[in-house]
Amino acid sequence: MRASNYLFSTLRDAPTDAVVTSHQLMVRAGMIRQISKGLYTWLPTGLKVFRKVEHIVRDEMEKAGSLEVMMPGVQPAELWQETGRWHKYGPELLRLQDRHGRDYCLGPTHEEVITELARNEITSYKQLPMNFFQIQTKFRDEVRPRFGVMRSREFCMKDAYSFHVGADSLQQTYDVMHQAYCNVFDRIGLDYRPVRADTGSIGGAFSHEFHVLADSGEDDIAFSNSSDFAANIELAEAVCLKEKADEPTQELSEVFTPDCKTIQKVADFLSLDVTSTVKTMLVKAIDEQGEPTIAALVLRGDHNINEIKVEKIAGLVVPFEFADEADIIAKIGCAPGSIGPKGLEDKGIRIIADRSAAVMSDFCAGANKDDYHYVGLNWARDCAEFEISDIRNVVEGDPSPDGQGTIVIKRGIEVGHIFQLGQQYAEALKATVLDENGKAQVMHMGCYGIGVSRIVAAAIEQNYDDKGILWPESIAPFDIAIVAMNYDKSEAVRNECDRLYSELKAKGLDVLLDDRKERPGVKFADCELLGIPHRLVVGDMGLEKGTLEYRYRKAAENEDIAIADAVDFIA
Ligand code: ATP
Ligand code: MG
Ligand code: MG
Ligand code: MG
Repeated sequence: MRASNYLFSTLRDAPTDAVVTSHQLMVRAGMIRQISKGLYTWLPTGLKVFRKVEHIVRDEMEKAGSLEVMMPGVQPAELWQETGRWHKYGPELLRLQDRHGRDYCLGPTHEEVITELARNEITSYKQLPMNFFQIQTKFRDEVRPRFGVMRSREFCMKDAYSFHVGADSLQQTYDVMHQAYCNVFDRIGLDYRPVRADTGSIGGAFSHEFHVLADSGEDDIAFSNSSDFAANIELAEAVCLKEKADEPTQELSEVFTPDCKTIQKVADFLSLDVTSTVKTMLVKAIDEQGEPTIAALVLRGDHNINEIKVEKIAGLVVPFEFADEADIIAKIGCAPGSIGPKGLEDKGIRIIADRSAAVMSDFCAGANKDDYHYVGLNWARDCAEFEISDIRNVVEGDPSPDGQGTIVIKRGIEVGHIFQLGQQYAEALKATVLDENGKAQVMHMGCYGIGVSRIVAAAIEQNYDDKGILWPESIAPFDIAIVAMNYDKSEAVRNECDRLYSELKAKGLDVLLDDRKERPGVKFADCELLGIPHRLVVGDMGLEKGTLEYRYRKAAENEDIAIADAVDFIA
């Protein structure tokens, strides 16, 4: 690429709303521009990086035996009604109608569509297992889009879905996907951890998240300093709801605010530290089988959502879907509306039944009074090898639940998430195959997501300095910049630059030839901001001595290299 034909769009200053480094640097380096809240255009430099990440993801998925498909971004409501998620998904699902008044959504994920495909295309156990993936735009109407493309509303995900007869086959593919994800993040060159995780609104029994370690991460992860033990203990995607009974549900999205500060207030109120607060609350209310029994807290306090003042924890919401009173009494030993089990009782906390905990907008049970607020909680659950309470209880410095080493707690950015879904979607959508005996069997499913666009930002969070980005070489927008001094005036410079440019390109490198009529300082600053790993400066003075000035982006000093050695040195 010749810089004279290229769009740099570099900026000296970041926009004021950019609070994390990656967001600031992506805007300053001319990688992205926001067109509207949570909606971004990728400029040439950004897209080059994006494509490199995408290429690695696609390559590893293909190596792992997954088949690429492309599903529509607009999905019919009927499929979502069949699985029950049309109502369950809440305000993150952007719903729309066509000219005939038919309902659709913009796909936030594709379990319904792929299962619809599988139930039509796959009829025999002989075709299984089968694994499909796509790399495609998703839309989620995030309550608080922020941090640039890290949490945008429209973003790119690689999503894969596997189909099986039986849980063993699912486990095998799950393991293969786990390894493929490690390969992707190793190949990019990120410092990451796979951790046990909650299954959230996707559902299912068993899952791992892949976290890039960075202080700006939104999740807390706990891992052992000397073994593979790792779990997401992110206690709180706190959701605060200013309740007014007469408010239409569509507007609830306006007032849901995930905010860890809210949980901090709860922590302060209970005089507990934040990493253990919710765990402690949950552990107290966990039933004998080790099932979590709380989906949410109802707080009594000041109305201001961002600065909620907790006066009292008024209630706990139990998450059993469509639970009836008898079910709840059986599980937690007290009736909805009553004072809870011992421990909660002391604090006067009431148990409130939420008929379907995932239905945030349905939640009216006890919070729809003035001064009452709703706080939703996430929890890590269903760990095969460790007790839930082991994971919930860990704090920094504790012995690891597997007995090896001690617990370290760090912040992480979720870049990937794999799930064993089991049969819930296949059951709801009646996706069956005939087994050896000609009997219909409901398929088992897994699903596997990677945030392709989020990875670009996460990589920057781990790799930058005061001059700009320090890309891992695998995904740098250009491998090398040739910076020409007086390209227009000096024929010797021009000839040498053109020779290097074509020879380095012939070696398969992505080369930027900076032939612009700009001051050297401007060119160097752009190279550094863009994070181009290698830089060669070609000027008349060096050429007379037979040398070029080389600088590795992460190095402190320049070095002179002989012209004849330059191509081999770089390539
Ligand atoms: P988060 O907890 O950050 O909201 P999620 O758990 O809702 O993410 P999944 O449903 O597991 O996300 O989707 C798979 C992957 O898609 C995530 O691991 C993440 O990398 C990416 N992703 C999810 N939401 C966004 C978003 N709003 N912007 C960019 N990437 C996203
Ligand atoms: Mg989310
Ligand atoms: Mg998550
Ligand atoms: Mg997730």
